[in-house]
Amino acid sequence: MARYYIETYGCTANRGESRHIERRLRDGGHRPVESPEAADVVILNTCTVIETTENNMLRRAAELDSGTDLIVTGCMALAQETAFEEAGVDAQVLGWDEVPQAVGNGECPTVTPDTEPILDGVIGILPLARGCMSDCSYCITKAATGRIDSPPVERNLDRARELLDAGAREIRITGQDTGVYGLDQGERWLPELLRGLCDLDGDFRVRIGMANPWGIYPIREEIATLLAECPKLYNFLHLPVQSGSDSVLDAMRRQHSVAEFREIVNTLDRTLDEWTLATDFVVGFPTETEADHQESVHLLETVEPETINVTRFSKRPGTDAADMKGLGGTVKKERSKDLSARKAEIVGAVHEDLLGTRREVMAVEPGTGDSIQAYDDAYHRIVVPGELTGDRSLGERFEVTITDHNTFYAFGEPV
Ligand code: SF4
Repeated sequence: MARYYIETYGCTANRGESRHIERRLRDGGHRPVESPEAADVVILNTCTVIETTENNMLRRAAELDSGTDLIVTGCMALAQETAFEEAGVDAQVLGWDEVPQAVGNGECPTVTPDTEPILDGVIGILPLARGCMSDCSYCITKAATGRIDSPPVERNLDRARELLDAGAREIRITGQDTGVYGLDQGERWLPELLRGLCDLDGDFRVRIGMANPWGIYPIREEIATLLAECPKLYNFLHLPVQSGSDSVLDAMRRQHSVAEFREIVNTLDRTLDEWTLATDFVVGFPTETEADHQESVHLLETVEPETINVTRFSKRPGTDAADMKGLGGTVKKERSKDLSARKAEIVGAVHEDLLGTRREVMAVEPGTGDSIQAYDDAYHRIVVPGELTGDRSLGERFEVTITDHNTFYAFGEPV
């Protein structure tokens, strides 16, 4: 869990994005502080409305770049991704949605403090259980959340029904590690829960939240079949691999191998026509050699995930990794830059393949300005111009043609 400082510029919409980031950071167990000096991570949410503003953003980013991890997000980060690097600022440039994951240092998010479901627009957030069955060497979250304590499947189904009755059209099941739900009771209950959700009445979608590879590996065939057979499940998995090197994974105590991660991906590739893989990498773990880094690059380039979170390792007090001798100099920065550059190419190519395709989407969240964030059934994020009204209101389904993309998402025009 990190101490963060966030500074926001620009319009009401951008301030709304900061509130959204802060809510997710709070749910992830992170703590706000009053000054950049007191923070582990500084977040600059930028505006790019006029040239003077851009110059101000660059100047402020340079001031904040003083040794603490700096994340730059917001409109200028989206529109001029390379401007900060060109100005000599050492920052991770990320889309708004990527910020909470990057602050998390590769740890799983804590579920909401009271683990109660939340309805946010048409998104129903359903925390399955708090805790995990792992003991990752860099993780401080575990100290707060402990071993997983799984409530029965029927209880979570009741909570899902409540969310649907309250208007949810997308249920996001969350937890530190959704793949080990039930394991404290001796078996994995995720497939049973998914079957129960698919049997509920209503027109809605379900997104499976973060699941570590070791929890999913034994049930990969069952999960792939369920995704293929139940149209209510988005064809999506968030499997944080963290490294492409088995020796780094061992030092992290991640309990999975690179081969097992690949086998899960291969199973879904074989079973589904189209799906989205989201994964995370921690760059610059204390034991990571250049050869280990190249293994991560190789994994990224051969698996080609559509959503990739790259986080520079930072020490969290009280963890075993905090006692390890860190990588000196600019190694972490350079490897993070390297992986992020490859990420941009891979995600760009994945989005390029979507160009010209026609697909049905559901409006799930308001976008920036007059735009709508929508998702298709393979959980591609598609930004559609226009207002959230009429047959394009939140929760409505409509068809789009993909016309453009950037590193973060695709753009679609209604058909
Ligand atoms: S799975 Fe690992 S990173 Fe996630 S909460 Fe548990 S110990 Fe922490």
